[in-house]
Amino acid sequence: AKTEGRGTLRFFEPGMDAQMLARRELELDLRRALVNREFELYYQPLVNIDSDAICGFEALIRWNHPTRGMVSPVEFISLAEEVGEIESIGAWVLKTACREAATWPEEIKVAVNLSPLQFRSGSLVLHVMSALSASRLKAERLELEITEGLLLQDTEATLATLHQLRDLGVRISMDDFGTGYSSLSYLRKFPFDKIKIDRSFVRDLAETDGCMAIVRAVMDLGYGLGMSTTAEGVETAEQLAHLKREGCVEAQGYLISPPRPASAVAEMLFTQLLS
Ligand code: C2E
Ligand code: CA
Ligand code: CA
Ligand code: CA
Repeated sequence: AKTEGRGTLRFFEPGMDAQMLARRELELDLRRALVNREFELYYQPLVNIDSDAICGFEALIRWNHPTRGMVSPVEFISLAEEVGEIESIGAWVLKTACREAATWPEEIKVAVNLSPLQFRSGSLVLHVMSALSASRLKAERLELEITEGLLLQDTEATLATLHQLRDLGVRISMDDFGTGYSSLSYLRKFPFDKIKIDRSFVRDLAETDGCMAIVRAVMDLGYGLGMSTTAEGVETAEQLAHLKREGCVEAQGYLISPPRPASAVAEMLFTQLLS
């Protein structure tokens, strides 16, 4: 098999071979998952804290594995990146998210997560363009979420691609803000439309003064740079109250709703999720 990974059969530490076999099996399953239509997008609402209105949904991939059941993206996205499947999976996510979002009301946006590796292939801009034209979704309704890790690589080419995407009219969000490093210099390098404050800061908002200070600083920063801010991982009414008091505009988290299948979007739109 030409796809045999580096050193696949090289280490024979006890227990390792079983672990590697399982991984190898998952890899083979992953290669078939797209044609077998085993992927699905779930959608988690983003709400405007002041108006309680849903302003968009983040698309989150799910893998309905034939025998393992639902496999988390935390388990298979990095595998997909390692074995070269992320480009085709990423293209499927873009196409599907745009197609589904095109059926929603005009003012509702859709956010799609991008892997740094999707920037390496050179075809990301084409994939975005074809997802938009096939679905007829307005570019302004598509938000692409990238992480700080992306900007560690190949900065010039990455920046050029981000600018090409921006020129299409799509919005670019910085995801998991504050978890990488040199975050501030990235904000200067590229004008993001939105900063998503990582849930690790939101989690300890009520208990740790430091978290409040960080959240406040990020929101000020966003405001000063003309970027909107979204707080991720809001789980309690207390966290939401803190965020509201500090002037945070958008929130996302289990308190509002967990990610749900596309078929639940209409219901979420018509139900008051916050009260
Ligand atoms: P992320 O982009 O930071 O997405 C948010 C994750 O937090 C989601 O996990 C979501 O279900 C979870 N979450 C939402 N609200 C809460 C909350 O209140 N509390 C807690 N504890 N968690 C919350 P999920 O769906 O398991 O996705 C995990 C990660 O997998 C995502 O993190 C993203 O990095 C990656 N991912 C998901 N879908 C895609 C995709 O289509 N493409 C790529 N490249 N990565 C994806
Ligand atoms: Ca995200
Ligand atoms: Ca995030
Ligand atoms: Ca994340």
